[in-house]
Amino acid sequence: MGTLSGKTAVVTGSTSGIGLAYARAFAGAGANIVINGMGAPEDIEKERKAIETDFKVKCVHSPADMSKPAEIAEMIAFAEKTYGSVDVLVNNAGIQFVSPIEEFPIEKWDAIIAINLSSAFHAIRAVVPGMKKRKWGRIINTASAHSLVASPFKAAYVSAKHGIAGLTKTVALELATFKITCNSISPGFVWTPLVEKQIPDTMKTRGLTREQVINDVMLAAQPTKEFVTSEQVAALALYLCGDDAAQINGANLSIDGGWTAA
Ligand code: NAD
Repeated sequence: MGTLSGKTAVVTGSTSGIGLAYARAFAGAGANIVINGMGAPEDIEKERKAIETDFKVKCVHSPADMSKPAEIAEMIAFAEKTYGSVDVLVNNAGIQFVSPIEEFPIEKWDAIIAINLSSAFHAIRAVVPGMKKRKWGRIINTASAHSLVASPFKAAYVSAKHGIAGLTKTVALELATFKITCNSISPGFVWTPLVEKQIPDTMKTRGLTREQVINDVMLAAQPTKEFVTSEQVAALALYLCGDDAAQINGANLSIDGGWTAA
């Protein structure tokens, strides 16, 4: 029996990267899973099936678009109908766009605020009635080092992530007496396929070696000079789901190799 046996976890943006690692960690602890996100149908099906066979739990995919409030509500209703409850919600879907403020495309600003911030509001709003009724829940929001400090050219992302930290605190205060906790996890640079794929291009455009790209560009702000792994982020989320973490509420937990200590 895992610590999450009989429970259900919904993880938004979990067809790749950190979200997929959360889903696999919760499945490893016995939870039934709803994965969500974009991608080629055959790739999503491969990951979905792997979760079921590797961990002997049930896993379904919701194609809900996190920029659409009605689809987010439908995803939560689908999860409750499929499994009877949503006990763990991880708001993780996210996109990035980099541009000077005066040229920042308005539609990119709107999309980042919708997907990286408002989607968490809509999903939390939809899961809370069930969690309150059952008097148990874990809400975890993937924020970022950018919820605590800024970088130039990332106006929308930094604003959305600071917003996530504020939403986390508010929800934590509202639900504290229902045995529901709400926390954010703030990773630094995480080694995901997306990051790995950027290396060859950056090597070419800047005329740098692989090591220079990793150390001088990507890990410039990360004092350990090592990437965080998706599995380390997922292990922290799993800890937050346990009884030992019942009094961790409204926190913004950094996992960034010391980035935000500077
Ligand atoms: P990723 O691109 O590998 O994963 C993003 C996921 O979100 C994918 O499953 C994608 O399909 C999904 N997604 C994107 N738009 C969506 C939409 N409209 N509707 C539904 N799903 C959508 O990225 P990642 O690095 O794993 O990032 C996951 C989260 O972690 C994001 O919130 C990101 O801001 C945060 N984060 C990442 C890093 C990092 O270094 N990789 C650092 C700090 C925080």
